[in-house]
Amino acid sequence: MKSYRFKALLQNQGWLENATVSLNESGNITSISQEENPESIFINGYALPGFQNAHSHAFQYAMAGLAERHSIARQADDFWSWREAMYKLALNVNPEQMKIIAAMLYAELLRNGYTNVAEFHYLHHDKNGKPYNNLAEMGEALVEAAKESGIKITLIPIFYQKGGFGQPPNDRQRRFISQTFDDYLMLFEASAEVCKKYEGAKTGVGIHSMRGVDHLDILRTAKEAPQDIPFHIHVSEQLKEVEDSVDYLGKRPVEWLLDNIELNERFHLVHATHLTADETERLAKTQANVVLCPSTEGNLGDGIFPLREFQSFDGNWSIGTDSHVGLNPLEELRILDYGQRLISHKRNTFTSEETEDSGLYAITKATIAGRKAMNNFESKFFSVGASFDACIIKSDEPLLANVKTENLASSIVYSTDASQIYGTFVDGKLIQKDEEYQRIKETFIDCMKQFR
Ligand SMILES: [Zn+2]
Repeated sequence: MKSYRFKALLQNQGWLENATVSLNESGNITSISQEENPESIFINGYALPGFQNAHSHAFQYAMAGLAERHSIARQADDFWSWREAMYKLALNVNPEQMKIIAAMLYAELLRNGYTNVAEFHYLHHDKNGKPYNNLAEMGEALVEAAKESGIKITLIPIFYQKGGFGQPPNDRQRRFISQTFDDYLMLFEASAEVCKKYEGAKTGVGIHSMRGVDHLDILRTAKEAPQDIPFHIHVSEQLKEVEDSVDYLGKRPVEWLLDNIELNERFHLVHATHLTADETERLAKTQANVVLCPSTEGNLGDGIFPLREFQSFDGNWSIGTDSHVGLNPLEELRILDYGQRLISHKRNTFTSEETEDSGLYAITKATIAGRKAMNNFESKFFSVGASFDACIIKSDEPLLANVKTENLASSIVYSTDASQIYGTFVDGKLIQKDEEYQRIKETFIDCMKQFR
């Protein structure tokens, strides 16, 4: 039994000041109260529910900052030229390096307040495109990295089959490919097997994108792959992809999904950047979730998701760090908000009938849909019986020491950075920047000699 006392703990309706949280040996919450307990360890901090990173490609962390040189001769640098740089990296990472890169990334995500990550994993085969003897060799490296760093992972082995609508895969995609639905199911089962080796690991199913898998196999995956776990898909990220979809299927990607699959809260549509007004309303009403990756979407020049309209129909959304050019959840929320303010010329992105508190609203939305992306349907931030997963913000910071509780959540969302995070609890275990972090970092820096 352990007990911690915090200056305040964020609950769905607002702050509980001087909160004592008691935990059992597994790190599950046994009580939350304002009663003093002389045995409690006092932490001078504010406890937020652990942030959920609903979209990650771990290996891409190794190339953050390496695709930013733009030659004048090649003026049209866009998503598709970035993708070529990404393929070069993808063709060179072995399982050992995958584990080293992912362990560093996950340690950094923890340091930034994330307790969970959904790993959208498509780098499956060896450098020649041949499946490893263990089909989930690369997935296992990701699960081991999660275990080493202490983050909880939802491993989503991705079905990737095509080089574009109706196109065979190109040679640079050879490490990603499952030719048939049955091949994908075998990969999924091998991945589910490696997840059993770490109690912080769960699984999801996923389709790379509408262009990446034949539409009939997308339907099969939605209907015949396991139904009790999340389903993730990239969709409508780039205008070219939308145009190609209209040419090939006669419908826009999200329109096609809405017309052909009974979407519900199990589905997580990553990006969904380019939507018509009709798609926005219909999608929100299905209660399917949109995963927004503001720093990556900005970096790649994708566009801006119609969040205000989506929210007006009570749409669900979460955040992800995708290519990892940004790792901080508060920064993701700020970029998301400011993109909306810049195109609407209004400031009130994050408000609803229930709350005027932008910070609380943003944390609530990102937490609840983000948990669903991990297959966790708990909507209460902290509850008795649940594992204690929390991001602790230092409360003795200049702007936070004396702030009124009504302004506290927004002061955290709009004015803090990673240096103000005290630590992160996962399953009741406090993770801080310690010797373990240093060891992961040294191994990573050595590994990067080859990649950076
Ligand atoms: Zn992605």
